[in-house]
Amino acid sequence: MQRAFSKRTRRRWGFWLAGLGLAVALALLAADRARDWTLQYLQRTGTQVLLSRIGEIRSWLDSYDYLPFLLTQNRDVRALLLYPNQDMGVRVSRYLEQTSLVAGSSGLFILDGNGRAVAYSRWRDQQDFYLRSHRDRNYFTDAREGQQGRRFRIDSDQLQPAFYLSAPIYDERRFIGAAVVRLSLALLQERLDPGVPWMLTSSDGRVFAASQSGWLQQPFAELAKESRDIRLDNGTRVSLWPSRTGGETMVQSVQLDDLGWTLSIQQDAGAARRNQRSAMLLTLGGCIAFALLLLFLRERALKQRLQRQAQQALANSEQQQRDIIDTAQVGLITVDEQGRMRFLNGTALQQFGLSASLALAQPLRRLLAPSAGFGVLERALGRLGQRGFAPLIGQEAVGLRGDGSEFPLLISIRAMKGAHAGQARYLVTVIDISRRKRLERALQDANETLEAKVEDRTRELQGMQQELLQAEKLAALGRMASAVVHELNQPLTAMRTYVAICRKMLQQPQLLSESLDEVDGLVGRMAVITSQLKTFAYRKPERVEAVSLLHAIDQALALFRGRFVEEQVQVDFKPDIADDRVAGDSARLEQVLVNLIKNGCDAMQHTEAPRRLSLQLLAEDGWFELRLADQGTGIDEGALDKLFEPFFTTKQIGSGLGLGLSIVRSIVRDLGGNIRAENTPEGGACFILRLPRYEQVKKAERGEGKADS
Ligand code: ADP
Repeated sequence: MQRAFSKRTRRRWGFWLAGLGLAVALALLAADRARDWTLQYLQRTGTQVLLSRIGEIRSWLDSYDYLPFLLTQNRDVRALLLYPNQDMGVRVSRYLEQTSLVAGSSGLFILDGNGRAVAYSRWRDQQDFYLRSHRDRNYFTDAREGQQGRRFRIDSDQLQPAFYLSAPIYDERRFIGAAVVRLSLALLQERLDPGVPWMLTSSDGRVFAASQSGWLQQPFAELAKESRDIRLDNGTRVSLWPSRTGGETMVQSVQLDDLGWTLSIQQDAGAARRNQRSAMLLTLGGCIAFALLLLFLRERALKQRLQRQAQQALANSEQQQRDIIDTAQVGLITVDEQGRMRFLNGTALQQFGLSASLALAQPLRRLLAPSAGFGVLERALGRLGQRGFAPLIGQEAVGLRGDGSEFPLLISIRAMKGAHAGQARYLVTVIDISRRKRLERALQDANETLEAKVEDRTRELQGMQQELLQAEKLAALGRMASAVVHELNQPLTAMRTYVAICRKMLQQPQLLSESLDEVDGLVGRMAVITSQLKTFAYRKPERVEAVSLLHAIDQALALFRGRFVEEQVQVDFKPDIADDRVAGDSARLEQVLVNLIKNGCDAMQHTEAPRRLSLQLLAEDGWFELRLADQGTGIDEGALDKLFEPFFTTKQIGSGLGLGLSIVRSIVRDLGGNIRAENTPEGGACFILRLPRYEQVKKAERGEGKADS
């Protein structure tokens, strides 16, 4: 992802950099073009200026062409040359003075055949002029050779560049002198427009006339030393000189071959640089504007694409929502504040067996049959559009199909968030629960069947249990009867024997009395047996009262005091508890303790003295635990789980009925406790009796009472 991103970024940067490069190249090209065109324009203008300047120079020179000839035709001039004399010299000089003034020349003079001045227009102030010889001057030699002289020269003595026009003067074919017109180039300087700076260079490369005095007498090459030549697109070259202001000037020159002069003009080329800069800036500006336009178009295209995508996504989402609504397994209906249906999805139409055209704008009530719970629904529909409208969730109702049939449904009504045309809208959800109802009924039927089966089975089991109990009772009764028969048979047989003996001994009262004592003993034994049987039949008392456990123990131990002494049994009992109350009745509690103590003593009967019976009373949370241990024979492992069964005994016939522990367990259960037996490591037996505290039993009773009430 990041790689793709950086690649795209690189490509974008590359595009913009290429664009920037192109813009710079375009700007440079445009700048070059602009400068070239400006220079070409300046060149054209310069050429015009040059042509006009040349015209001006030539017309200026031509305007004096007639003057030498005019002088040669003057009689006085001829006379002076033929007959030189001072008066005539002055006269001619005055004439020359006037003519020069009229013609606007710098000077007019007449030379004799030897090149010496004989008359001079400026004879008044330059007398020394007559001293000079013009013999070797080219304008003189031209005239002497019979030619019209047109010569330019800079007189070394005057340092004034001047143009000389000369014409020969003949006397009958004899050369007698020359008329010379001197035109100072200062005159030309005044005539030419100084708007465009110019200079005239002589054939020796020195500037002799210029619009700017600084250039005068300067070698042209020296002035052009820092110039540079540029080749223009039209194939010509222009020379650019640095100007004093820091800019550049364009210098154009043309040669006047006949005069041997070079006319140069100078134009400010700053426009070229300005245009160059402007073109560059304009092109760059144009490129930036173009780039901005591109960006704008791109952004617009991007925005349009995003808008299209968003519209597409919205359309997809709406389509999906429509699909969900149409394919939902739940009927969806929207209703307005008046309870009229505004929309039903396909499932709702199917549930009620309607077409959309029939259902729309109809009240929702028409789809519901009055049934149990319809009041709640009616109220909810009545509150539509009101402030206190509370949503109705999962109300069971009965739907009315188009064909008049009914079906159970679950209906919910909630307010929708948005409003339509200023009206609140409500979404009604309808779930057809026909199937669920069918299943519920089936489940209920199944439950009822199951309950009936369970009841039958329970009855059967109870019957079986009763039968079993009955059988057990009969078996126990049988065992008891045989034991009682067995126990009573022996004393009865003995008694019958003693009664027979008594009959025979009626005459011997002494012996009779002993036999009757025996009978009495046997009757007593039989009474013990029946008393035990009586206890077995004893029923649990209705009321429970607080009984002191310690007192019961003391009472039971007191009953055995004689036997303890006789059989050397040492009792070990040191209780250390404050509250010793248990719930029960003292007689039965004592009976339990008596049975256990008796069994302990019985077990130790055949062991060696001293014998020890230890009693240990522990008080736990809500319980007492009494551990009664002896040092007797202990209990066989196989007999441990049979001890508490009625009529289990290991004692000899006549010594025990096997009912003692059975009675003990029965009483202990009645008192809410339990009892178990184990062998001690020393080999004796230990009976552990657990009884609840009186408080505990009371608390439980109070709890039960509360629960009942
Ligand atoms: P009985 O004493 O008439 O036999 P019990 O129900 O009191 O009837 O006792 C059942 C049997 O449990 C006894 O025969 C004896 O074998 C055994 N038994 C009871 N207590 C002890 C004891 N402390 N030590 C050893 N055996 C015992």
